[in-house]
Amino acid sequence: MHEMALCESVIAAVEDSARVNHFTRVRKVRLEIGRFAGVEVSALRFGFDVVARGTLCEGAELVVLEPKGRAWCFDCSETVELDERLDPCPLCGGLRLQPVSGNEMNIKDLEVE
Ligand SMILES: [Zn+2]
Repeated sequence: MHEMALCESVIAAVEDSARVNHFTRVRKVRLEIGRFAGVEVSALRFGFDVVARGTLCEGAELVVLEPKGRAWCFDCSETVELDERLDPCPLCGGLRLQPVSGNEMNIKDLEVE
């Protein structure tokens, strides 16, 4: 399951950061997951709770930011924002769109103690 692997890599990254920055508990994790990344946010939340057990992320609040994807439209030559990867252009209804961003899967920031 894609989301479970993502949670494991998030927690591994937090643990690396904890070693460098000397914190022992995490209160809040903010993730940025682009709309085109194909991540099911409810599955991500469930996976996080499971994977976080027994780690310094146990009990941490998971905040998921979902920035809209951006794509270049060949028909109207504009960069537009899309909710879904295969949405038509909101300006002209065109379907020839080249994604520019929206695949982000980043830790935005942490609240630690
Ligand atoms: Zn367009």
